[in-house]
Amino acid sequence: MKKIAILGSTGSIGTQTLDIVREQKDIEVVAVAAGSNIALLEKQIREFAPKLACVYDEEKAVELRVKTADLPVKIVSGIEGLLEVSVFPESEILVTAIVGMLGIRPTVAAIQAGKKIALANKETLVTAGHLIMPMAKEYGVPILPVDSEHSAIFQSLQGNEENKISKILLTASGGPFRGRKREELEQIQVEDALKHPNWSMGRKITIDSSTLVNKGLEVMEAKWLFGVELEQIQVVVHPQSVIHSAVEYEDGAVIAQLGTPDMRLPIQYALYYPKRMPMSGERLDLFSLGSLTFEQPDTETFRGLVLAYGAMKQGGNVPTIYNAANERAVALFLAGKIGYLKITEIIETCMEQIAHRENPSLEEILETETLVYEYIERFICK
Ligand code: NDP
Repeated sequence: MKKIAILGSTGSIGTQTLDIVREQKDIEVVAVAAGSNIALLEKQIREFAPKLACVYDEEKAVELRVKTADLPVKIVSGIEGLLEVSVFPESEILVTAIVGMLGIRPTVAAIQAGKKIALANKETLVTAGHLIMPMAKEYGVPILPVDSEHSAIFQSLQGNEENKISKILLTASGGPFRGRKREELEQIQVEDALKHPNWSMGRKITIDSSTLVNKGLEVMEAKWLFGVELEQIQVVVHPQSVIHSAVEYEDGAVIAQLGTPDMRLPIQYALYYPKRMPMSGERLDLFSLGSLTFEQPDTETFRGLVLAYGAMKQGGNVPTIYNAANERAVALFLAGKIGYLKITEIIETCMEQIAHRENPSLEEILETETLVYEYIERFICK
């Protein structure tokens, strides 16, 4: 039996991970964590019988303890609870599927405890990649990408360990507003931005996909995961989302991974790597697709991508500023407090206004996050 723990078991990636567990029969879920959705968490505990479950919200944890009193499960809460799930002795793999920078500390703890990381939480590498990647190497722990593009790159790298990458082709659907100009985006409402053309995902990443901030975060994630220079990563808009990304080698050969848009495949690949397992579901039918198209990203309209390259070039804590400002701006947009275009404006203002630091420690990264939140609270939400 393969034993796994899941942070964010009630979310989009978390529930799809559990779909794989249902289908495969040889995975045991030993620990789970969620934010506050105890109704679903209770169902998951009854179905998968983990020994440990964390609900971040303390009051909800108390409620869940009462609801699961008939079961042999320990319920914990808060960041301490998340850390306990991350290092749960029986688990071999930690699936990091919570949203945001909250994922950093549990990921660090899991690496230090020798767990393999199936990484969905891209914010961890974006902000702390310079600490996480050397740490994973030191502890001999693989970081297995779950993000579909990074999984595609990882799959395209198999068997090529000795070969030099000349370029990574990171594909992007372009989101629901592809083809529109900046002035047409002013009136965008939350419901419009939550309609992704190809993928069904959590709310935050869906908004990030529409602004191309998600692609910006993915560029940074790819740089850390695959150890390439920023200039070697080319974003290619490919509206059909069939080519999930590709690698160009020194001889000009381009190796890509293709498939239907189904997140279960990259999740399953990370769980079983290097093995491929059978999987139910739709298969790619090239005849019904007819053609695949490609475009340059429109960086005039979608500033999120340009700002991401800027943040990464400046380095230090600037990617953290970019990410934290985006996290807060997206939350404000989802709460109906700011307009759509304000999201990237807030990121840009924070990148200009918050003090830059080189080579930040974990504490400095978390401090930067707090500084960004305080700045937005004082000057933008006033
Ligand atoms: P969702 O919003 O669907 O799920 C988030 C999960 O995190 C939920 O289980 C939620 O619990 C849990 N959570 C939220 N706050 C806390 C907290 N304080 N403590 C513990 N758990 C918490 O997100 P996604 O699944 O879409 O995304 C997860 C990560 O994966 C993100 O980093 C995203 O960028 C990345 N990713 C997602 C993809 C996708 O297809 N969805 C694709 C590639 C990457 P609750 O339900 O109780 O709120």
